[in-house]
Amino acid sequence: MPPLSFGTLPTGERVNSYTLTNAGGLKLELITYGATVKSLHVPDRHGNLADVVLGFSDLAGYLAPHPYVGATVGRVAGRIRDACFVLDDGKYPLAANNGPHHLHGGLVGFSRRNWTATPLERVDGAASLRLAYRSADGEEGYPGQVDLSVTYTVTADNALMLETEATTTRATPLSPTHHSYFNLAGEGTGTIEEHELQILAETYAPADDQMALLGKRAPVVPGGNDFNQPRRLADALPHLFQAHGDLYFLPRLGVDASPGNQPRRVARVVEPTSGRVLTVQTTEDCLQFYTGAGLDGSLVGKSGRTYGPYAGFCLECEGYPDGVRTPELGNIVLRPGQTFRQTTIYSFSTT
Ligand code: BGC
Repeated sequence: MPPLSFGTLPTGERVNSYTLTNAGGLKLELITYGATVKSLHVPDRHGNLADVVLGFSDLAGYLAPHPYVGATVGRVAGRIRDACFVLDDGKYPLAANNGPHHLHGGLVGFSRRNWTATPLERVDGAASLRLAYRSADGEEGYPGQVDLSVTYTVTADNALMLETEATTTRATPLSPTHHSYFNLAGEGTGTIEEHELQILAETYAPADDQMALLGKRAPVVPGGNDFNQPRRLADALPHLFQAHGDLYFLPRLGVDASPGNQPRRVARVVEPTSGRVLTVQTTEDCLQFYTGAGLDGSLVGKSGRTYGPYAGFCLECEGYPDGVRTPELGNIVLRPGQTFRQTTIYSFSTT
């Protein structure tokens, strides 16, 4: 798996791309900038491949403003209310990059850093790449130097497995996620409205008009944001708050469940025409479903087609973003001596 050059940053640093494949037809392309999934080819029920994630054709597309397309997001995925948190004895102001709130790690979060790649030899022969990033103490206002790695593996049974590990030198909130926009019919082919979505969650986190979390847990609403029974997105979208998608609390496996335990199945998406099925498993506490409502047609994707509203959806496995303010809804503080571990698996099959 020799790297290919994907361009050069204004600092002179090189951005590389790596391709991981398996015998089942899965083909994953990663770039070191943002530890980003650039493309993911997956077979349909007839074995025909399509690229099922949104993305851009060149580095300029990734350097331009865009809503975290394919990227690794952090330190904290989602919104921290009022762009500030209090932890132990310190008060930490952060960038208000989403109205008055802090979103997805700030102005230059993990998604806009160039990561270091190491190809791994796995005993089972699966193609694997570790992308690592050292986030300096004070970066984007967060305390502690964080050493983080995300290992991407393409398994023999057509899954993309993401294993994240991190340590810190000082207590810091840490809750990264993967931010691919999926379209199982193929990127740029239209909206995701014909996809059928299932999310196995009984409660969610209500948000205000700016999608900042209200610090509460509420039961999912039948006919609204309840996806326990699979629903066609075209039917569900008019009933979702701001047609945006919510943050769901994922059921715990048992009393000892914690990040680092075995991933459990939390969501399934079916695209009926191609027959492609995406199943999501994670060790995380929460799942942010995002409909792609904010895509406005101003971005041109890698196949030359524009990305309008609902061109792709995100299923982001993460901790409760405002967990420093409301630890009873999820503790996202990593302390020195602890190792953060998160596993999320996006598996592909057909019906
Ligand atoms: C959030 C959206 C946001 C999008 C792009 C998603 O994770 O839930 O509110 O617009 O990311 O930043």
